[in-house]
Amino acid sequence: MDTQKGWNLQQSYTKLPDAFYTKANPSEVEKPELVLFNEVLADELGLSAKPDPAIFGGNVVPEGAEPIAQAYAGHQFGQFTMLGDGRAVLLGEQVTPEGERYDIQLKGSGRTPFSRGGDGRATLGPMLREYIISEAMHGLGIPTNRSLAVVTSGEYVQREDLLPGAVLTRVASSHLRIGTFQYAAGLQDYDKLKALADYTIERHAPELVDFEQPYLSFFEKVIERQAYLIAQWQLVGFIHGVMNTDNMTISGETIDYGPCAFMDTYNPKTVFSSIDRQGRYAYMNQPPIGAWNLARFAETLLPLFHEDQEKAVEMAQEAHAKYEKSYHSYWLKGMRSKLGMTTEEAQDQPLIEDLLEMMEKNEADYTNTFRALTLGRPNETAMYGKPAFTNWYKQWQARLERQESSEADVRELMKRTNPSIIPRNHRVEEALDAAVEEGDFSVAKQLLAVLADPYAYSEDQEVYAELPEPSAQPYRTFC
Ligand code: AMP
Ligand code: MG
Ligand code: MG
Repeated sequence: MDTQKGWNLQQSYTKLPDAFYTKANPSEVEKPELVLFNEVLADELGLSAKPDPAIFGGNVVPEGAEPIAQAYAGHQFGQFTMLGDGRAVLLGEQVTPEGERYDIQLKGSGRTPFSRGGDGRATLGPMLREYIISEAMHGLGIPTNRSLAVVTSGEYVQREDLLPGAVLTRVASSHLRIGTFQYAAGLQDYDKLKALADYTIERHAPELVDFEQPYLSFFEKVIERQAYLIAQWQLVGFIHGVMNTDNMTISGETIDYGPCAFMDTYNPKTVFSSIDRQGRYAYMNQPPIGAWNLARFAETLLPLFHEDQEKAVEMAQEAHAKYEKSYHSYWLKGMRSKLGMTTEEAQDQPLIEDLLEMMEKNEADYTNTFRALTLGRPNETAMYGKPAFTNWYKQWQARLERQESSEADVRELMKRTNPSIIPRNHRVEEALDAAVEEGDFSVAKQLLAVLADPYAYSEDQEVYAELPEPSAQPYRTFC
């Protein structure tokens, strides 16, 4: 029996046809030790604050759990592949005291029927990374899955080297992905596809159930959510790194924190992932890749749109065309806020683009440029003293004077939309190194504490806003 109280697990996913999942228990680990635990999140979930390492390591299944591995497919770097939870199990859905439903998933919990050649395990560094960055995203106010716990397994996992193993507990409003629909479409069974769509609508867009065209409206909803999400990524300089269709959620939450990282120096071509050699998922490509992924999603839904497939394609295309406009308006709205603009003028976009262009040319730090503008310290930007910047700054000030908002309101808006800190790569690495090499988790905990409120502009954040030492090698991430 576990000592933690408050589990209220259900499993609605198993009401779907058997083809969508297989039963899969987490494997035992040698010596589960809880190294990170998210008490605030536990509280929101209705769990008491006494966590049991045996549960979060996978040795004990909590009351009411019905562990499964989900089936899905996906385009990985453009190639269609059959996938599924190869190193994760879904324990069930925790229904919170507020009545919300969240998937509780263990990642790194051993092999499943979808593991193919993999060992089903995860290593400590990447699980800490996922914990830190997903919680940072939450702090930034960007839709994301959450991280509840990291447990070290007391076992070593073979990668290039032998590395300490770990299990991460993820919390998400669901793990339904575009890839889940691609899997369903591949079954070539109308009833199964419809079952998945109906289930998903009930879970993520119940207001659409009685619509005249529920499936088309559902598609439009997912377009909106993805357009919003990707715009938020762009606005904070987040590079997901592996926008495969199996990593794009229907809920519109960010998931799969593998090779992701935040951009320091502004450069639209930035890529961090070591496996992304063509730059398919570079910063500037994220919005169009979103469109590409949504087109793959539309293809899966065609049979539900209309009996006449030609008509269905027309409907899909018309809806899909809304993505670009929607993305752009979220982006522009966000950029206006970042620059303190409370009204709309036709010349806003060129003014924003001029700034970005100057930032690129002068290799300015993305976050700190907006931070400096927010704090009214243009002298702290890399462009300071350049005539083009002086001119831009004057234009920007004049633009702000044409609106009625007070200076204080403008500053307030900018503070709410320009984070003072992000999880900078060198800080994340420092936290991971301390944990993996010395068993010291205090560095990670400190980082997590400041990242919980990145808009605080507090004194203890100053040091986290500092840039890394210049490095000969570009930063690289690995999944
Ligand atoms: P990802 O790149 O994290 O989106 O994972 C792609 C697929 O590879 C998913 O089906 C994962 O479950 C699977 N996978 C990743 N790592 C492992 C592993 N160590 N063992 C088994 N399956 C894995
Ligand atoms: Mg994935
Ligand atoms: Mg991954």
